[in-house]
Amino acid sequence: AKALGRNTLCFFDPAMQAAASARSALEGDIRQALQRNEFLLHYQPVVNEAGDMLGAEALVRWQHPQRGMVPPGEFIALAEQTGLILPLGRRVMRMACDQLAQWARDPRTAGWSVAVNVSAQEFRHPQFVAQVLETLRESGASAHRLKLELTESLMLHDVEDSILKMQALRTVGLGFSLDDFGTGYSSLGYLKRLPLDQLKIDQSFVRDVLTDPNDAAIACTIVALAHSLGLEVVAEGVETEGQRAFLLRNGCRQFQGYLWGRPGPAEALVCS
Ligand code: C2E
Ligand code: CA
Ligand code: CA
Ligand code: CA
Repeated sequence: AKALGRNTLCFFDPAMQAAASARSALEGDIRQALQRNEFLLHYQPVVNEAGDMLGAEALVRWQHPQRGMVPPGEFIALAEQTGLILPLGRRVMRMACDQLAQWARDPRTAGWSVAVNVSAQEFRHPQFVAQVLETLRESGASAHRLKLELTESLMLHDVEDSILKMQALRTVGLGFSLDDFGTGYSSLGYLKRLPLDQLKIDQSFVRDVLTDPNDAAIACTIVALAHSLGLEVVAEGVETEGQRAFLLRNGCRQFQGYLWGRPGPAEALVCS
């Protein structure tokens, strides 16, 4: 064979090949994990200004037989690319609704709500509304305690369709939260039209809120914007008392972050 010249294009890239086969191995693993029921939910407290628990955000985990507890950052993107997010999302919704129904039976937890993250693909699915309603019915959970966390890019893809779906679910009592607010398109014109209940200040603004004047300005602007639109606002990623105090001083009334607890099994939330 002729030696390759230095300008020859190389079509076989071992690194890319390795990455592609790692992806397809992971895809197979996710498929199998769904069959074996290896996904579970951890819950992270959402609290009010007094530190009382209002509810929790459900965050999916993969309890892998060899790799241990795998965080969503390692499999959600691939699940989205492969369509496996649809069965995974349905499983997540079912587990969250079952948990809600269980909380409703205990006087210590009866008022808690649960927030579920919804991917663009799930939300765009024509059967999304029907499936959420079916899951609520099967689990016996109250729709009034279920909140869906959506992102801007997800809703702006097809604004009219998003509004219709949100309205359909709102009529039975569901709430909607706009996750990672400030990191996406942030089209304020659409914000006014979307039937939301809540904005979540992204943790990237909360992290340096005490040291970076720009982050502080953005966080305060989001609080003011939420309130002037009649929406609740939650700060996520709050890790220190200083961050909490600053946000509270600037009008934020709901918080989530390591300061109150890391995501963990539902049992860990109930103090007896
Ligand atoms: P997210 O919705 O923005 O969730 C917040 C993430 O921040 C969680 O990471 C949570 O563990 C982490 N976090 C909470 N408090 C703090 C804090 O005080 N400091 C820091 N540094 N981090 C904090 P996690 O659980 O790894 O989830 C990552 C992302 O994966 C989520 O971001 C969400 O976009 C996605 N995700 C999680 N569960 C689901 C799910 O069931 N379905 C879908 N579609 N996506 C999910
Ligand atoms: Ca979220
Ligand atoms: Ca978020
Ligand atoms: Ca995020």
